[in-house]
Amino acid sequence: MLHPNTELRFVNPLVGHGVFATKFIPKGTITYVDDPLEIHIPVDSPLWNHPVLGKILKVYSILENDGAYELSWDHAKHMNHCCHSNTITTGWGFDIAVRDIQSGEQIRGDYGMYNVDYDMDLVCEFTDCRKRIKKDDFDEWAARWETQILDALTFSSQVAQPLWEVMDEETRQTLERYLQTGEGYCSVRGLKYRLPQQT
Ligand SMILES: [Zn+2]
Repeated sequence: MLHPNTELRFVNPLVGHGVFATKFIPKGTITYVDDPLEIHIPVDSPLWNHPVLGKILKVYSILENDGAYELSWDHAKHMNHCCHSNTITTGWGFDIAVRDIQSGEQIRGDYGMYNVDYDMDLVCEFTDCRKRIKKDDFDEWAARWETQILDALTFSSQVAQPLWEVMDEETRQTLERYLQTGEGYCSVRGLKYRLPQQT
């Protein structure tokens, strides 16, 4: 579930729709929570071959580290990529604002963390745009994402967290423990999909 102060807006014919902040969202705010309503689709589901629904799955679902695909029930599935995104997905599975997001600003993530299993062309307005999402992006960029997350988490106790109550109990407890004691940090590297071990 996305932060309540967000909405879907049309960006342009090339990009399509995107998610925008309707109010100021400060750094450290949890902007997305992997809540229990999210839809999980196994890789061997017959839905992938459905003439209509299969295309929707291929465009909007994300491969998770356990090998299942996740499709958001709300407008989270319309989040676009930016090479300098204002939100990053944490190892706990929620997204956090890594800088202040102004009202009217587009909220974007980094597709490099979405376990894209093919190279994907991309566009963003930055001159150092990576141009393509590649399968090894995770290894190349994880250290930067980790630094951004650790910095944003230091602000998380000082800002309103409307998504706190939809976070599952285990995640909330481990996050609270980390924020209070500095122990039990959940690394972003855990999000990376790893092929099942051959036996
Ligand atoms: Zn870019």
